[in-house]
Amino acid sequence: MNSDSLQNTLDPAFTGGSRVGVLLPVPLGKVYDYLVGQGQSLHAGDFVRVPFGPRKLVGVVWGAGAGDVAEAKLKSVSAKLPAPPMAEVTRKFIDWLAAYTLSTQGQVLKMAMSVEDALEDPRGVKVFQIADLDADHHANVKMTKTRERVLDVLRGSPPMTASEIALAAGCSPAVVTGLYKAGALVEASQVRERTWAAPDVASAGPVLSDAQARAAHDLVARVQAGAFVGLLLDGVPGSGKTEVYFEAVAEALREGKQVLVLLPEIALGSQWLARFEKRFGVKPAEWHSDLGQRERRETWRAVADGRARVVVGARSALFLPFHDLGLIVVDEEHDPAFKQEEGVIYSARDMAVVRAHLGNFPICLVSATPSLESVVNVEAGKYQLLHLPERHGGAVLPELDLIDMRLEKLPATRWLSGTLEQALRDTFAAGEQAMLFLNRRGYAPLTLCRTCGHRLACPNCSAWLVEHRVRGRLQCHHCGHNIPLPDKCPNCNAEYSFHACGPGVERLAEEVMGIFPEVRFALASSDTLSGPRAAADLIGRIERHEVDLIIGTQIVAKGYHFPLLTLVGVVDGDLGLAGGDLRAAERTYQLLYQVAGRAGRGDKPGRVLVQTYLPDHPVMQAMASGVRDTFVAEEIRARQELAMPPFGRLVALIVSGKIESAVDAQASALVRSSPRYEGVRVLGPAPAPLALLRGRHRRRFLMKVKPGLPPQAIVREWLERTQKEKGVRIQVDVDPQSFL
Ligand code: ADP
Ligand code: ZN
Repeated sequence: MNSDSLQNTLDPAFTGGSRVGVLLPVPLGKVYDYLVGQGQSLHAGDFVRVPFGPRKLVGVVWGAGAGDVAEAKLKSVSAKLPAPPMAEVTRKFIDWLAAYTLSTQGQVLKMAMSVEDALEDPRGVKVFQIADLDADHHANVKMTKTRERVLDVLRGSPPMTASEIALAAGCSPAVVTGLYKAGALVEASQVRERTWAAPDVASAGPVLSDAQARAAHDLVARVQAGAFVGLLLDGVPGSGKTEVYFEAVAEALREGKQVLVLLPEIALGSQWLARFEKRFGVKPAEWHSDLGQRERRETWRAVADGRARVVVGARSALFLPFHDLGLIVVDEEHDPAFKQEEGVIYSARDMAVVRAHLGNFPICLVSATPSLESVVNVEAGKYQLLHLPERHGGAVLPELDLIDMRLEKLPATRWLSGTLEQALRDTFAAGEQAMLFLNRRGYAPLTLCRTCGHRLACPNCSAWLVEHRVRGRLQCHHCGHNIPLPDKCPNCNAEYSFHACGPGVERLAEEVMGIFPEVRFALASSDTLSGPRAAADLIGRIERHEVDLIIGTQIVAKGYHFPLLTLVGVVDGDLGLAGGDLRAAERTYQLLYQVAGRAGRGDKPGRVLVQTYLPDHPVMQAMASGVRDTFVAEEIRARQELAMPPFGRLVALIVSGKIESAVDAQASALVRSSPRYEGVRVLGPAPAPLALLRGRHRRRFLMKVKPGLPPQAIVREWLERTQKEKGVRIQVDVDPQSFL
């Protein structure tokens, strides 16, 4: 038994007539007192059903009741659910995360109870077998050829579902139900638990290079020690980081622990899954938003009782009810996708560190371009650095050249420079693959009327509509609003006067087709890769060399390994530098570096061409020189000078509502009550860059706090002092990453 479940049984039981505090997964959710029913015995962590207003809700026993409500008014716990109790470490994690993000505990609990189904006994499926009738009775059932086949299938076989029988007998399920109605079959309910084969931890991985072996050795030793430590595995793309942390995964499994691997976009993790299966002989449990209800239920339950040993998932996997978690790996730890921007706003990377701390086991952050936060933590001695300086097997890092677009003088409807075009030509001629990177979905980011200059904008958001020509529609990338391309300008009525400005990947594909009509290309963006299957399909086609050219958005930047891919062209290297938020340079650098890392991963050397109008920008200079650490050191120095994160702390407040005047009134109230301390600065209110989003008006505050001051306490007091406007929401974003 693991220490967490041991704790549950050692906790004193709450018996009939005593009070318990029950946390409910509702937005206002706090811990409410309930009476334990006669004959009931509850422990902290038990899942219970309780009356709540007119409804019944499922919640978790959080501890003894607070005693703040008169006993006469208390309601009783209706029932205890037949699920493994929530471990103490999970409850602590929920409390911690709620306090840190200034959310209610109920909001956080809701994320940890996303599969309520899993708390009930598993439901059976309906199965059939032959009825135990005497010969006379059977003789009364009218028989046909198909009915005979059904009985043949069932004779001597275990009970089967109607569709299984139908498949085996080559008939429709209706034949089975017909036989059942006629009395020749009986039905029963059968619980079918999916089996989770144990990963094979005995078989060895590849022979590691010296640097790899050293890193793996350190990592494994930390897993054996079994105490909290933050590790940063930093290595150039292709240096074998995955192979190295697989060693730690194997060790944790040998110790009987569960392992969680967080990936930024698990829907695109098919190559990762295949590698895992190759190494460990089984598939890991997956956790992401594309799972069906049944898979969610089964996985949740298997994680809770320890049958699922390794989970690979997106950020929500942090809230799974691990039985005995002993290692977390956060791959591509710098990736912005780890930040959840809706509901409870949190960074899954940072919260994973908290989770490891509470569970007292190691966490390994992995990246070729670590976030500045992690680099600073290494410098401060908080994390241990594991470094892989070179690509595995002597593969060299690609040669990178900047193309100064100011000298190219391209016509307004062309985006490929002559240099890049020639490089593509050479690559195709050599029978190799190329990738063009442009971080813009659709055909064109802006459509305007040539007659009056009117720009087609979203009615619900401060954003232009993006043309998607494949789909024949204009679409808002923020709220999804979409319309067919109108014939007439809504402003001046001019007909067929629209002009598409700028390129998206679709338009780039058009240009490429004009130049290389014979080339087999694939578009890769969130529009074309809508789920794990589509992504796996495309990856398969690239691996089988059925594709010569990939034209993609940042979706293709991540972690893929395509040995034949030797040329990467970045069409607009400056794209991420506009907007100028705190991390623009860091993000652009990380993204370009990752994209560049796709080139030349096999035996053939790779080449990267970056088109830019800003060749002197520090990011471009860092890319061209290949010296990552100078750029990083420079960024860190600048942040330190300005007391920006990770040195000072930031908290953003986003005020939003449907009625603009109410939003402004709320913003004014926040100004009046704003904290006035030494070391705290409040900037704003300012209209958010997305001043209108999904029909809501938005204003932003940014609070900057000197190191050492507690931002949460300051914001909590600030909000308590503030008069609230009806219909206006104030969202708190601690450690904001996005400033939109
Ligand atoms: P990273 O995660 O750092 O990008 P990978 O772990 O994906 O690097 O390694 C890149 C490629 O090199 C993969 O195909 C991997 O299987 C291979 N590789 C890495 N290390 C070794 C090794 N020691 N022996 C054999 N192949 C290796
Ligand atoms: Zn919109």
